[in-house]
Amino acid sequence: MTSQQIRQQFLDYFKSKGHQIVPSAPIVLKDDPTLMFSNSGMTQFKDYFLGYKVPTSLRIADTQKCLRVSGKHNDLDDVGRDTYHHTMFEMLGNWSFGDYFKKEAIEFAWQLLTEVYQIPKENLYVTIFEGDASENLVRDTDAYNFWKSHIAEDRIINGNKKDNFWEMGESGPCGPCSEIHVDLRSDEEKAKISGLDLVNNDHPQVVEIWNLVFMEFNRKADGSLEKLPKQHVDTGMGFERLCMALQGKKSNYDTDVFTPLISKVEQLSGKKYEGILENEKDIAIRVVVDHIRAVAFAIADGQLPANGGAGYVIRRILRRAISYSYRFLGMKEPFLYQLVAVLKNDMGSFFPELVKQEKLVTEVIREEESSFLKTIEHGLKRIDLIISETIAKGEKTLPGTEVFELYDTYGFPADLSRIIAEEKQLTVDEKGFDEEMEKQKQRSKKSSAQKVHDWVILEEKPEIFVGYDQTEVETYITRYRKIE
Ligand code: ATP
Ligand code: MG
Ligand code: MG
Ligand code: MG
Repeated sequence: MTSQQIRQQFLDYFKSKGHQIVPSAPIVLKDDPTLMFSNSGMTQFKDYFLGYKVPTSLRIADTQKCLRVSGKHNDLDDVGRDTYHHTMFEMLGNWSFGDYFKKEAIEFAWQLLTEVYQIPKENLYVTIFEGDASENLVRDTDAYNFWKSHIAEDRIINGNKKDNFWEMGESGPCGPCSEIHVDLRSDEEKAKISGLDLVNNDHPQVVEIWNLVFMEFNRKADGSLEKLPKQHVDTGMGFERLCMALQGKKSNYDTDVFTPLISKVEQLSGKKYEGILENEKDIAIRVVVDHIRAVAFAIADGQLPANGGAGYVIRRILRRAISYSYRFLGMKEPFLYQLVAVLKNDMGSFFPELVKQEKLVTEVIREEESSFLKTIEHGLKRIDLIISETIAKGEKTLPGTEVFELYDTYGFPADLSRIIAEEKQLTVDEKGFDEEMEKQKQRSKKSSAQKVHDWVILEEKPEIFVGYDQTEVETYITRYRKIE
């Protein structure tokens, strides 16, 4: 089954269960002071849960473009290093706004996975919330009892607050959740283990695919929980992970969501992707094909790279991709922009914004690449110097201030400094780095008015993004050249 078909089957299934199918909200949030990007399917429905707005239907399903690179959900450091955390990913979801609750949510999920998608039942595990005394939260015995009618009891695992109590951010709707994990290990591997070891959450081939959240509370700004006026269901399933399970792959990057992008990178770089976890070249290829999606979707949804705020996050992601491909794929000239056409071919039919904004996205990425490539060489020379000074002093830790300066002045990604340090058996003074980062945050708070001013035209887009016009594109390009 192709990824397109997998997505469509999800939507068709929930449509047949009375759900209204809605489009993904933009990945960039323009009117939410608590969040920069959509980091889960429920972001666009927050007001429904809080009772501020009336939903268009009590049952809704969709696929939502998500980005987890900042705030409470930040997966950036894992991306490229594992096979199933992305910066940008699609979250398939179904919602009940005060309509059905745990029983039906569990039944729908189970039926879809085991009957429609035909995942063997013996490859599935579920978790439920074990309770948390410190917040007076009780064990989710309801969920346990509903699961019991579908799955053997030794496959229902208790989970703690960290994994089984879902919160959108520091504040907002939240509640206990029940996760579904799929075991992708071969029979041979499974034969070697028994009992509870089977669950082994940390095993890279036992992967969480779906989270069913039972929304009961709102976390207030002071941290306390209050009961929501109504109870809701909010589920999120990682689309790329589901594709991995259904296409019989061991890595999201081996599914057709990523293989066309990987082939293009292979063709442009002359390097072969071997899918090895610890291999620098393979990590770099995963980073590149992951990050291009994040950056392209963000730009297509109205967020241009910039020096502050959400635009800075996007610029940093792009720079991370450029640094990895520069160092580990030998790419010294702009090339990432050429992946935009591949992405459009793969995903443009479902996400028309990629078709509509292709020219701009390509152009912006190329500008960013050529500009950053000019400074990266300096950055690499600089870190070599810092390293030799550190070694000369007989020390083993690179000063946090220097690594920060590198990051701040040259936009040189801190994780790349760490990798380079490690190659010389050195570490980075993380405390010093964090302190500098904190100081910088304070400084940029003060000067943010000035920074916004540089981008005034683009920052003042209407609340609902309707697309860039030609003048905006040209303004961006000219302004960009002026600023850099
Ligand atoms: P994990 O424990 O793997 O980090 P999570 O518990 O943080 O996942 P949820 O917040 O429960 O994830 O999100 C719902 C679903 O979205 C997950 O079950 C997973 O399938 C998917 N998902 C979450 N984070 C990512 C990511 N960074 N990349 C791809 N899919 C993801
Ligand atoms: Mg996570
Ligand atoms: Mg989890
Ligand atoms: Mg989860």
